[in-house]
This record gives sequence, C-alpha cells and structure tokens, in this order.
Amino acid sequence: MIFKSPHYCIFVQNISGMNTTDQVEKILADTNLSTELQNIAHKVLHGERISFDEGVYLYEHAELGYLGVLANFVREQKHGDKTYFNRNFHLEPTNLCVYDCKFCSYSRLLKQKEEGWALTMDQMLDIVKKYDDEPVTEVHIVGGVLPQYDVAFYSSLFTAIKQHRPDLHVKALTPVEYHYIFKKAKIDYATGMRLMKEAGLESIPGGGAEIFHPEVRDQIAKDKCTGEQWLAIHEEWHKLGMRSNATMLYGHIEQFWHRVDHMEKLRELQDKTGGFQTFIPLKFRNQHNQMSNVPEVSVIEDLRNYAIARIYMDNFDHIKAYWAMISRETAQLSLNYGVDDIDGTLDDTTKIYSMAGAEEQNPAMSTKELVNLIKQVGRKAIERDTLYNVVTDFEHVVFEEEKKPAYYKLPVVN
Ligand code: SF4
Repeated sequence: MIFKSPHYCIFVQNISGMNTTDQVEKILADTNLSTELQNIAHKVLHGERISFDEGVYLYEHAELGYLGVLANFVREQKHGDKTYFNRNFHLEPTNLCVYDCKFCSYSRLLKQKEEGWALTMDQMLDIVKKYDDEPVTEVHIVGGVLPQYDVAFYSSLFTAIKQHRPDLHVKALTPVEYHYIFKKAKIDYATGMRLMKEAGLESIPGGGAEIFHPEVRDQIAKDKCTGEQWLAIHEEWHKLGMRSNATMLYGHIEQFWHRVDHMEKLRELQDKTGGFQTFIPLKFRNQHNQMSNVPEVSVIEDLRNYAIARIYMDNFDHIKAYWAMISRETAQLSLNYGVDDIDGTLDDTTKIYSMAGAEEQNPAMSTKELVNLIKQVGRKAIERDTLYNVVTDFEHVVFEEEKKPAYYKLPVVN
C-alpha cells in the first residue's frame, strides 16, 4: 500500500519558501502519517541512521513527496545547493566479453565478435591524445572482459597514460575485471591492487556491483565476481588509502529488500574503511539484452529510489545520477530527491547507455549545457575533479563560445 497525503506532491518546490528543516517539521506535524513514517522522519531530522527494516518500509509505503522532503533535507545538510559534475571522457577498450550477464546490452560474446571492437594499446593511447588540448580532468576506463587485457596490459596502459599526461586522473576497471585478471595472474587482491596503484591507477568506478544478493546475482550475472568478492576488492583498495565508488542496478527482478541488503553491505564497508565517495543507482534498461521481457520501472520509481538511497546511505558523501542514462530532465528532477552529482560531459565517448536503450543516443554535453541544466533548477554548478576538489565554481562564470571536442569513432573488429 502506498501512503497518501494531500500535503505533498511530486515537486518538492511546491512546499518551498520553507527551509528544509521546516519542510520536515511540516510532515512530522501531519496526523495522517503512519507511526513508522513519523519515526523515520524524526530520525532523519536528528541525523540518526535508519535501520534495514525501515529502509524496506520506505520502499513499500512511502510516497514520493514524503521521500523528497527527507532526501532533500539530507542533501542540503551535506551540500546546500551545490551540484557537482566533471569534465571527463570514457575509454572503452572492448565490448567483447567472456561473461554473459543477462541485463547487458553492451557486450558481445566472442562468437559475435564481428559486432564488437577490441582496441590495441596504441589505439587507446591515440584516444587519450585526442584530448591533449581539452580541459578534461579524468579518463574513465571500463568495458568488457577479455583474456588479452591482463595485469601486464593494464599496468602498461595506466603507466603510459600517466607518463603522457600526469594531470589526467585514471579511474579504471571494476572488481569484475580485477577479479578476473588477478585470478589469471595467480595473485591475491591485496597484491593486485598494489600493483595497479603502482602502475598509475588512481580510483575505481562503481560498476559491476549490480545486486549483491546471490538470489538475484545468480540469475542475472552468474559467472562474474560475487558480491563478497566485489566488496573485498574495494576494501583492499581502500586499505591503500585510495577512493572508489559504488553502483546498484535496480528495477529488474530484484525485490525491495534486495536493494536494501545491497545498500546495507555498502554502508557496513563504508563504516569500516571510509573509502567510498559516491553511490550511483543505475536504472535497468531493457533494450537489446536477454531481459527485454522485464518492464522498466517508472520515473517516479527512479526518483523514489534516489531519495531512499540518500536517506539510507548516511555515510556516503554523494549520490550521483547519470544524466546520459536517465535523460536530462529526470537528472534535473533528481536534484530535488537527494542527488548532488550528475556525472560528466562524456563527449559521446560511451556506448554503455545508448546500447541499453537510454534516451541519449549520443551522450555529450558541453560544459555550458551542463552548467545551464543545473542552474535551470535553481542549483549551483560546481565542476569537480574525480576526488571532489573544486575545479570551478560556475556561480558567476560568463561563458565564451566553446569549441566542441573532436568525436572519435569506435573501430570494429573484423
Ligand atoms: S555487464 Fe560487464 S561483465 Fe557482464 S557481460 Fe556486460 S561487459 Fe561483460
């Protein structure tokens, strides 16, 4: 049953004019609110952590308006109106993959290699060099898993990128790749992550997490690293004093409690290491994959999910929405439901979202467009680097005409 109240509607701004504390006080004063929702609102207002059961209760009973008020309260306590983005590009070495995740629209099994690409080291470095005159701060490297991309290959790649451009932050690969290449090299996670760091790796993106619980993971991503292995690799990375991010693929066959279980495991590891920066809920898209019969969830459910993530993940600094995955308009809306980061300029360098059916088929936004997207909904645009150091506060910046960076085509394997 969904809780209904006449006081809150989809847009949190409709009770604006009040500060966020007053907004929470207003819902606490509502005598129609269930005791459970009263208790949760009280906890959030006083900075107390909500429990696993309360997380599940929110998914099952809380309406969007209520969630938006609480999530926006937490968001503004942490960041005010600041909304972060970065200038980055993706480097996707291959879309061929030894695994066969049912939700994946991106990968092609080896037998379908005519539909795929697999870049050489030189081709990858050529892509990096195309950005030499661009003010990008990060290269985000992620793709499929292939035997030729091993510890030695990735070590050489990271080192070569850092030698060519020391100021470019290398954010690369996920525990899916790391588990595979370390196993092949017969080295443990601690040794492997130390080698990657020495080679030039600076942070790990959040991918490969999907849903940790084996009830779901075994059905959608059976052969790749388990949830425990994903967490163990991030833990080893954090022990080296390094930072990483975490995702959750939601809106397919999982139940609400699987989502809370996933967030709980991340929250526990974060209590232990403090190494995570950002939690990124990823919406399941159903085009061109083996789960096309599973309907996608609505935008309302997307916003509810962002909001519950913001309320639940109290020890994560940032909640991110990928604008390229959920559309520009939903990304704008999400800024009132706990999100404070909408990713980067991308420059049309990723196929991961478009191949899964995202609205953005050629995802690229100029800095000016991204800043305007954020400002249009009354938030402050902050360009950050990968580690959330402020590069530019755009509050008073006036744009000159911008040069659009070069587009590169992905080669096809014959
Ligand atoms: S999700 Fe990743 S590991 Fe799974 S098939 Fe796609 S590219 Fe391979």
